Amino acid sequence: MKIAPNTVVTLTYELYIGEPEESEEEETFEIAEVVGEDDPMVFLHSKSGLPEAFEENLNGLSVGDEFNFWLEPEAGYGDYDPEATMVLPIDMFKDPDGNEIVEMLEIGNVLPFTNEEGNQINGQLIEISDTEITVDFNHPLAGKAMHFEGKVTGVREATTSELEHGHVHGEGGVIH
Ligand SMILES: [Zn+2]
Repeated sequence: MKIAPNTVVTLTYELYIGEPEESEEEETFEIAEVVGEDDPMVFLHSKSGLPEAFEENLNGLSVGDEFNFWLEPEAGYGDYDPEATMVLPIDMFKDPDGNEIVEMLEIGNVLPFTNEEGNQINGQLIEISDTEITVDFNHPLAGKAMHFEGKVTGVREATTSELEHGHVHGEGGVIH
């Protein structure tokens, strides 16, 4: 069984990130994520929300196959958009008594917001003043070149209900 659209894929990998156009200089890349066998990545191919190029690079692989590929930002999470930040009054983060909810207000924290379409979107806190905070809505990997090295540990056909729901059921997926 080979990886293709509508298969359920299980992977382990290491992700290295760096500046774009540096693909030949791997030593400048830093490790960003290690996904091991104890908690592998499981996704429904073509419905995962992952970059298309990530899924395409895996097409045709079977269990036990290894992979090793680069994605420049345009094939990954896009360029970093300096406009995609927002300044918000710190009062939004006070409880009804006017006390700051301090555990939320730390630089680097990722906070959930709702956008105009009503979808949940994460923003990272990048600046705090006495009256305002600045939140960055770029994907954490925006503007980064990504190097994936890993191994396929599972491939199976998706079930009818998985295809209807658009996500994986059972181990590594949604249990309901
Ligand atoms: Zn479901």
